[in-house]
Formats: sequence, C-alpha cells, structure tokens
Amino acid sequence: MKRLLGLAKRWKTLPASQRGIAIVAIPIACLLSSVGVLVWINHSIAEHEHWVQHTQRVRLETRVLLNNLIDAETGVRGYGLTRRLEFLQPYNVAVAQIPESLEDLEQLVQDNPQQLNRLAVIESLVAENMTLLEGKLLLRRQVDQTPESIESVVSVNVLYEWLEEGKETMDRTRGEIDAFAMEEERLLRDRQQQLEYYRRINSLVLVLSVLIGVTGGSFAMHLFLQLSRELATRESRLQATNAELEQACERLERFTANASHELRAPIAAVLSNAQVGLMAPENDLIQPRQRLEKVVRLTKSMSTLVNDLLFLARHEGITDKRSLRPFDLRAVLSPLIQEWKTHSQIVLRSQFPDSPIIIRGDADLIQQVITNLLSNAYRYTPANGEVTVRLFAADNKAVIEVVDTGVGISSEALPYIFERFYREDQGRSKTAGGFGLGLAIAQQIVQAHQGTIVVTSEVGKGSTFQVILPRASAQVA
Ligand code: ADP
Repeated sequence: MKRLLGLAKRWKTLPASQRGIAIVAIPIACLLSSVGVLVWINHSIAEHEHWVQHTQRVRLETRVLLNNLIDAETGVRGYGLTRRLEFLQPYNVAVAQIPESLEDLEQLVQDNPQQLNRLAVIESLVAENMTLLEGKLLLRRQVDQTPESIESVVSVNVLYEWLEEGKETMDRTRGEIDAFAMEEERLLRDRQQQLEYYRRINSLVLVLSVLIGVTGGSFAMHLFLQLSRELATRESRLQATNAELEQACERLERFTANASHELRAPIAAVLSNAQVGLMAPENDLIQPRQRLEKVVRLTKSMSTLVNDLLFLARHEGITDKRSLRPFDLRAVLSPLIQEWKTHSQIVLRSQFPDSPIIIRGDADLIQQVITNLLSNAYRYTPANGEVTVRLFAADNKAVIEVVDTGVGISSEALPYIFERFYREDQGRSKTAGGFGLGLAIAQQIVQAHQGTIVVTSEVGKGSTFQVILPRASAQVA
C-alpha cells in the first residue's frame, strides 16, 4: 500500500510529456503482450495438432499393414485349401502394399527411437512371414503340377500341418504390431490431452487479454483524465498569475508615473525658489531667507514622500514572520492617544476594554496604521470637531475604530481612497498636505497581518475607519 502511494506520488512529479507517453504506452503494452501470448499459444496449438495428425497417420498406416498381412495370410490359406486363384488377389495386393506401408511407417516414426526399434522387429517378422507365405505358395504350386496319384499320397494330417505352419510367426508379428499400435494410441491420447490443455489455456488467455485490455484501457483513460484535469488547473492558475502580473505591472507603471509626477512639482518649486533667492539684490536679506525657508519646507515634504515610497516598496508583500509577536493592542494605542491629545483643538476620545486584546503582529507597523488614520482624521476634521478611537473584540477578531466628525468622503471617491496617490479633492488634500499614500500604507500593513480595513463615510458628517485583525490565542509574555 505504502509502495503504491509512493508510486502515485512519484507519478505526479513526472513531467506531463513523460506521463503522456506512459499513458499511450499502457494500452499498447497490454495489446502487444496479449497478441504475443496469443500468437505463442496458437503456435503451440498448431504444433500439437500437427502431432495429433501425425500419430493418427501412424495408427492408420499400422492398421493398413496389419490388414495387408492378414489378407496375405488368408489369401494363401484360401488358395491352399481351395486352389482357387481369386484367393491370391488379396495376397498379391498385400505383397505390393506391405513394403510401402513399412517405408511410410519408418518415415513417420523417425523422431521416436523406441518405435523405430519396434518397427525394425516388425519388419523382420513381416519379412519372415512373407517368406513363409511365399514358400507355402510355391509348395502348393509344385503339388499342383504333380500327378493326382502323388497328391493322394499327401495325407490330411500333412495338409493341416502345412496350414498351421507360420502361425506362431504370424502371432508374434501381430503381437509386435499391436504393441506398436498401442504405443501410438498412448501417444495419441497424450497429445490430444496436451492439445486440449493448450486450447483451454488459449480461451483463458483470451479472457485474460480482454480483462487486461479493459483494465489497461480504463487505467490509461483514468490517468489521461487526471492529467487533462491537472493541465486545465495549471492553465487556469497560469492565466490567473498572468492576470495578476499584468495588474501588478499596471500598478507599478501607475505608481512610477505618479511618484515622478509628485516629485517633479516640489523639485521645480525648490529650483525656482533657489533661483529667485539668488536673484534678489545684495542688500535684500529678507527675500532669500523666505525662499530658503520654502526650500526647507519643500525638501521636508519631499523627504516624507520618499520615505513613504520606500516604506511601500520595502513592505510590499508579507512582513517578516519573525518580527510578528503577540502583544496587547491597548499597550500600543494608549501612548499614541496621549501623544495626539496634545495636538490641537480637536477633541480626542478613546474607548478601550478592560481585558487585553492580543494580536500577533509587528507593534510598530500597527502603530503606523493608527497614526495614518489619526493623521487623516485630524486633517479632514475642522476645529472643535471630535475624533474617537475605539478598541473592542468581535468573535476571534480585534477591531480598532477611528471615527471622526469631519468633512467625510463622497461615495464616488470611496472605492479609490486606498489606491496609491489617490486624493479625493486635489485642492483640499494639498492644503491638508497629504500625498495620497497614507491609506495605501495602512492597507498594506493590515493585509500583511491577515486583516482588513473598511470605511464608511458621509459627506459633511464624518468618516469611520475600521481595522479588523485576527486575534492571537497566546497571552502577552
Ligand atoms: P492623504 O495623504 O492625501 O490624506 P491618504 O491615502 O491618507 O492620503 O488618503 C487618501 C484620500 O482619502 C485623501 O486625499 C482624502 O481625500 C480621503 N480621506 C482619508 N481619510 C479621510 C478622513 N478621515 N476624512 C475625509 N477624507 C479622508
């Protein structure tokens, strides 16, 4: 079983082309092996049939020999008793046929030394018999040619003796022929049994071939379907990866275009401020100073932009798993709230649970997410507005909510606010000082923590951002 599983595993690691060849080879191998075995068995059957026919021919020839011998003896005896010439006819036929039969038999039993020896004995006995019969015939003819008076001298007893002469040789010959024939009978039985055996095997192999063919065919079909399914899955996966790559390329192009566009404007501003400052009269100390202050501001903003871009590039994809540790979200959020409370006229509230809410992650990055959300809430909420930060647990999730009573986001802009460099109202955002990267950064961090960030907003009423993160079971160490 283990071996089978190992084999199945190895099969799946083989390249598709090799598997395809194997799939085609399986039915061909089944077919060839079946045909091979069938050809071999049919050849064996043909060979055994030939031997059966061969033995039957030997039997037939033996019977012919025996009949001829009996005919010859009967003919001579009949002629001896009756002196009628028609009795000699079978004798004459037998005399002509016996040598032929013996020769045929000799040819037929060439492969069987035992039978060949027996045949030699038979041959000599037959020859002896024929000599005896010939002698009798000669004697009978001589007697026929002598006068009646002499014939009458031959007593009835002598005639009987004459008739009985050669009987013993004849019996021995028949005995030998019978033994020879019995051996052939035995051979015939054996060969017929073998022939029957091979015929049965042939039917069995036929059934087995059909079974192997059906099983091999079904197995090959199963492997083929498996392979085609796998190829289809691979193809769809490739298509998906291709689409993802295309999207990534598109995003990268857009990002590069936006980044260069965003940098070009402050660089141009730095250049023009520096040139104007340089052109100021020597005694004017105020204008160059103002220009320099602008250059410093612009450079700071460029530095922020470059830092944001670097951050996005560095944290693209998953964060380093080793930097993920379980921590209590309250411990990260509390100092942040204290820090932001001192910022402006906006009222900042916080609602945290009494029990710890543990997540597994990078505390610095989560702090960055909430800083970005708070920064937006402050930027897009007029003075005396309110910002609330809530932390609570929902099932196995931790939820951080940043709610403001600011300008809100239009429903048209809502689907795009997480895109890099997206700013709903260019004018409004520029005054607020953003590059349209804050939410993209926040979303990237949250996704790297297997979390989601959702927003609901109403123009003129405010916005609610929810960061939903999976809770960790481990407690803070
Ligand atoms: P920016 O640096 O321009 O604020 P962000 O990626 O942080 O870039 O935000 C993208 C856009 O989403 C902003 O330009 C703004 O239009 C909108 N936005 C984000 N947060 C808020 C909020 N709290 N209130 C209203 N609009 C917001």
